Amino acid sequence: MEQLALRAIHARLLAHFGPQQWWPAESAFEVMIGAILTQNTAWTNVERALTRLRARVPLTAAAILALAEPELAEALRPSGYYHLKTMRVRAFCSAYEAGGGFSALAARDTHSLRTWLLAVKGIGPETADDILLYAFDRPVFVVDAYTRRLFSRLGLLPGKPGYESIRHAFEQALGPDVDLFKEYHALIVSQGKTVCRQRPRCGLCAVASLCAAASSDSLDPSPETDLARARHRGPTPFDE
Ligand code: SF4
Repeated sequence: MEQLALRAIHARLLAHFGPQQWWPAESAFEVMIGAILTQNTAWTNVERALTRLRARVPLTAAAILALAEPELAEALRPSGYYHLKTMRVRAFCSAYEAGGGFSALAARDTHSLRTWLLAVKGIGPETADDILLYAFDRPVFVVDAYTRRLFSRLGLLPGKPGYESIRHAFEQALGPDVDLFKEYHALIVSQGKTVCRQRPRCGLCAVASLCAAASSDSLDPSPETDLARARHRGPTPFDE
């Protein structure tokens, strides 16, 4: 991937959407639990589950493990697939305790930490990389469905590359920059939810002039007007 193209896309998305200030959480541990709960559901549901969990116990691994399983499941109910997520959260908390907690885990290098995360039942590459980037401040680029769709349409992901090759391509092109990776992933999510949706709204798109798949009949002849309108409308997450 070309660094200049990636930087130009980032600059346009940032100018369009503004800083996203991810990840919304009060602690690194809350980021980790949120990353598990957000699998296959909207963030609003995760927030509801976290609020219910916080009302029962402090958000620590020990306190969550001390909670009876049906009580934990009841707290996590709004996050969807809550029986599965109860098992995943408990598996993560057990591994977290066995791994020595935050300080011991943070002392590991990124490769070791990623390997440890991927060995926890229910944690795949995207969840692991969310945790590495947003909880441990590691320069790991998160790849999700929005990333694949946007950059495929932009013509920067030819073929069907796997998760790891996409992640490496971003990391090599951009260099290890935690703040940039955090902001870029959040901007990609905003773009994917509001503009480059399944049915793309190319007329509202800040990167349309860079896009191989831009639909010419939906491009506004005065894009500044539409972009300004979109900016004022604000993001409408989870609307696909
Ligand atoms: S121009 Fe259209 S297809 Fe291309 S990134 Fe923008 S919304 Fe997606």
